[in-house]
Amino acid sequence: MLPLVRTAHDFRRACQEARLDGPLALVPTMGYLHEGHISLIRAARQAAPTVAATIFVNPAQFAPHEDLQRYPRDMEGDLRKCEAAGASFVFAPSGPEEMYPPGFQTYVDPGPLAQPLCGASRPGHFRGVCTVVAKLFALSRAECAFFGEKDYQQLLVIRRMAHDLNLGTDVVGRPIVREKDGLALSSRNAYLSSEERPRALGLWRALSEARARFAAGERDVPTLERAVAETLDRHGLRADYAELRDPVELQRPAQADGSTRLFIAAFAGKTRLIDNGALGEAG
Ligand code: AMP
Repeated sequence: MLPLVRTAHDFRRACQEARLDGPLALVPTMGYLHEGHISLIRAARQAAPTVAATIFVNPAQFAPHEDLQRYPRDMEGDLRKCEAAGASFVFAPSGPEEMYPPGFQTYVDPGPLAQPLCGASRPGHFRGVCTVVAKLFALSRAECAFFGEKDYQQLLVIRRMAHDLNLGTDVVGRPIVREKDGLALSSRNAYLSSEERPRALGLWRALSEARARFAAGERDVPTLERAVAETLDRHGLRADYAELRDPVELQRPAQADGSTRLFIAAFAGKTRLIDNGALGEAG
């Protein structure tokens, strides 16, 4: 069975030891692992002889009304998957107090990249994400850490933080892994009822619609966004946001080009799903 580390102290020690053998790669997750997470562990294994996967449902990135308590968990299954994918050990803090002990009061405050999109609809979310990831980087001193483009804004915010704070960990982004029909894999897909699952495909359909219109020559941002909103609507999804942004600074472009990304967050029932992709990419 894969070694399971339960305390921050032991995690630091395990990483120190691992780094004697060469570079260490980190894969932070919230668990309930699927092929998206697995793809990150596999890519990390290509990059470094030792891979530390972490599993922590980080309370600091959830608002009080969000799904922290009911977030799906399966530690046994996760450990099996981590081992099969090539992780060397797993850090799963024994509880929130392992990362946020009594008296904890210092948080990382990300800048403008964290303001639009999920930053606007989930105030404080990226502050929580940055804080826990900074702690994981500090404990592990990993050479590199792998993150999915599924959470594209998170990837940019973390990369910026690592750079700005000289954390010494190279932040590597990896493509979105999808179901055969196009739905982006997510631990939250487990919430979807059999009636909501087909509706959830609306995110992918909306992205495909935007790509098709772009391929047909449409460059007008409001027109493309309207087509996306209509597609979400047709699928009975309630849009949280559906916006085109540039892929580097997340600014609103005057006109769309192939690198312009569509960012979507939408509710299927109570489940909030996100997806994104570049307009010029093949579907
Ligand atoms: P989470 O457990 O949802 O916090 O995700 C942990 C990491 O896995 C993050 O870097 C996510 O971006 C990444 N991830 C989640 N879903 C996918 C997916 N479908 N494809 C690729 N990476 C993903």
